[in-house]
Amino acid sequence: MALTPMMQQYLEVKEKCKDCILFFRLGDFYEMFFEDAEIASRELELVLTGRDCGLENRAPMCGIPYHAANTYITRLISKGYKVAICEQLEDPALAKGIVKRDIIKIITPGTYTDAAFLEENKNNYIMSFYIDESGECGICFCDISTGEFSATSCHYNESILLDEISKYNPSEILIEENTDEKIVNTIKDRFDVVFTKLGKQYFSLEDTLEHQFPDFKREDYSNCLIKNSNCLLKYMLETQKTCLSHIDKFQYYNIVDFLSIDINTRRNLELTETIRDKSKKGSLLWILDKTNTSMGGRQLRKWIEQPLINKNMIEDRLAAVEELLNNLSLHEDLKESLKDIYDIERIVGKISSKNVNAKELLSLKNSIEKIPNIKNIIKNFKSNLLVSMYEGLDDLKDIFQLLNNSIVDNPSLSVKEGNIIKEGYNEDIDELRRAKTHGKEWIANLENKEREFTGIKSLKVGYNKVFGYYIEITKSNLSSVPEGRYIRKQTLANAERYITPELKEMEDKILGAEEKLVNLEYEVFVAIRDSIEKHIDRMKNSASIIANLDCLSSLATSALENNYSKPEITNKDEILIEEGRHPVVEKMIPTGNFVANDTLLNTTEDELLLITGPNMAGKSTYMRQVALIVIMAQIGSFVPAKKAKISICDKIFTRIGASDDLAAGKSTFMVEMWEVSNILKNATNKSLILLDEVGRGTSTFDGLSIAWAVIEYICNNKDLKCKTLFATHYHELTALEHTIKGVKNYSVSVKEIDNDIVFLRKIVRGGADQSYGIEVAKLAGLPEEVIKRAKEILYSIEKDKSNNIDINNITSETAISEVNNQAKNDIIEHNNASSTKDSFQLDFTDIQKDNLIKEISSIDVMNITPFEGFNKLYEIVKKARSI
Ligand code: ADP
Repeated sequence: MALTPMMQQYLEVKEKCKDCILFFRLGDFYEMFFEDAEIASRELELVLTGRDCGLENRAPMCGIPYHAANTYITRLISKGYKVAICEQLEDPALAKGIVKRDIIKIITPGTYTDAAFLEENKNNYIMSFYIDESGECGICFCDISTGEFSATSCHYNESILLDEISKYNPSEILIEENTDEKIVNTIKDRFDVVFTKLGKQYFSLEDTLEHQFPDFKREDYSNCLIKNSNCLLKYMLETQKTCLSHIDKFQYYNIVDFLSIDINTRRNLELTETIRDKSKKGSLLWILDKTNTSMGGRQLRKWIEQPLINKNMIEDRLAAVEELLNNLSLHEDLKESLKDIYDIERIVGKISSKNVNAKELLSLKNSIEKIPNIKNIIKNFKSNLLVSMYEGLDDLKDIFQLLNNSIVDNPSLSVKEGNIIKEGYNEDIDELRRAKTHGKEWIANLENKEREFTGIKSLKVGYNKVFGYYIEITKSNLSSVPEGRYIRKQTLANAERYITPELKEMEDKILGAEEKLVNLEYEVFVAIRDSIEKHIDRMKNSASIIANLDCLSSLATSALENNYSKPEITNKDEILIEEGRHPVVEKMIPTGNFVANDTLLNTTEDELLLITGPNMAGKSTYMRQVALIVIMAQIGSFVPAKKAKISICDKIFTRIGASDDLAAGKSTFMVEMWEVSNILKNATNKSLILLDEVGRGTSTFDGLSIAWAVIEYICNNKDLKCKTLFATHYHELTALEHTIKGVKNYSVSVKEIDNDIVFLRKIVRGGADQSYGIEVAKLAGLPEEVIKRAKEILYSIEKDKSNNIDINNITSETAISEVNNQAKNDIIEHNNASSTKDSFQLDFTDIQKDNLIKEISSIDVMNITPFEGFNKLYEIVKKARSI
């Protein structure tokens, strides 16, 4: 048995898109066959049928009407599938033999631009990365809906790659087919993303980039970057099968030009979504996003994902925000104008891919109409950024004029239904419209004329698609129809339908004019669209200025609403915050209840703030607040504080809470240590580190020792010495303030009232001496009996220094002030302290002595000048005396 010709054609097409679900156009349906049909029927809940294909068994088949395709495509793409659209390339009525068919587009998660799939305020990125033999890694991103195309390269490092992915959050990643599976799995564990593997030929040095980007200069970039960017571009051109003229700017970026925030930190600080339910509400973006356009919304998200490290750029943004804040009424006008601006970027993308409709061009016109007013408003401002925006903002008057003259005020949704072009724009269209109107008037008159003639009041002239125009007379009136006046056409249950030769003649004229009109309107529309396409770069430029302006306006609005102040960006290596607040937590609790706190961090005396205090006291809130204030300042936002001086950080690291990796099967402790090690390896003296309860995941002694060693490492390592916030409930560590330079003790104050504790949320100098664990447990609602018993056990442990706890004999209730004595003794034992050492402090002295000995033995006597030698001696004597 042989396959039918149609099935042969199907299989030939399918061969070209094996990894896609093929939508095969047959008449008014897209049909799917074989395995595709099975997948689609399952995923889309379609009935699975079969079709004779020439073989013994029928081919499994399911189908969808062509006009409903988008809904189904969106569902498949959201589930991570790719869809290839195969169309009929010739009119079936004219085709000789089988109709020609081919793929006209491949839709993938990273290239889909349907409005139902895209989120307004979020870019949809497709990414490619490529690691070459030398270890260089090319990274490239594109949002096909807006035309953004940016690329970079760096020495391959897993953290950097993960950070970049988390910044852009792509929905599809292209990789070379031999890419190390370990890397791919690490990414898959953390991100919900579809991978597309491509052959080596995609990662070539061909001149695809030069063709797309006229300004692209190959000599400015490495081969690895070119190969990788080439791949992304080629893939998009191949799948979209259009020239993508709106992707016209190659943007190189350097990773180190932005504040580096590693993947865990982004997550922990909840910059754009919360950890718990991944919602925007509760994130920093939620607080800062007061944008009025979707373009601004997307841009602000980018600003938050990529805070700056360049002082001038940060100060420019801050100055612009300040100016907007100081000119409230102009700012209000600006916001009003921005409100009416549609998504120019995405409309431009549609113009380029030739699937824009007239309604969207009308939205484009209405948006452009607002630009002169926006220019007029920002003309009044003096700050650098606003002045440059004023100068760069093209009001696109010519495009406005063209659209205003040509597109009707309420065009049809489909560009193939007419009702698009305005009266007076094109003579031929006007002429056809007159013919059509004249015909319709004639028909309207016909009804009256025939009623009068026949005396039948209920005589009607109607229209349907099958029979065209007709005269309808109810059965009860048939006797009044004059003989020979009408030709019978159709009999209904209670009426007859007639035509006349004149009526048919007029019908031909009307329908002829209508068809011509629809075709001509479409032609003229395409010409308008194509002539606008030539100005894509100008429109994109104005759109980008509007997006940035909207971001500044948003920052000004949130600063005003939340009572933020302008941070001073200082060259002095310090972070000084007066009455700082956590921007999100203060919004989540009743107004006025948030307790503001001060912060002083530098790289000399106040380098590592050791924060102790019971659980729930507010330690992590405080630490996060400091990081968020720094990030906000580097975004160019005002900050939740009375006053803030911020020196620019290059990287922010956090080790807080649970991690994504838990899902990947690693233990809490393992993950914690991996993260700490990553921080210690990558932080610099310009970094900010937040460490919360390091060492908690293991036994007390191990944990305490690790925490201790980490603090020493950070403060004593001259290449590190970075600003650090270290929260712990190992109170024993507070002793380090006296032994390690730069450590400062702080605690969150609590008050004990009648055996209960009250959190005061105030960060004060000095360490906490109690953990109040049992009191916190009581607050959390643990049964009274358990609390009482816990206190008894605790008391017994404290009393029973030999550790022989006779659980049956614990009866007395007591205060808990001696809670730590046992732990202190245990540590002394653990560190093999001699029996004469009965004070916890002695243990630190040993370490200091050890350190001093190490320091003395490391002096290279033969290679220092007498002056250096004298200084060293002075230092050593000073240290020895302090022990
Ligand atoms: P810890 O890290 O010490 O266990 P958290 O920082 O998680 O405590 O704080 C616990 C809760 O206390 C937070 O969810 C918040 O509601 C509240 N809180 C924290 N800091 C403050 C503050 N400064 N003012 C008011 N409430 C606060």
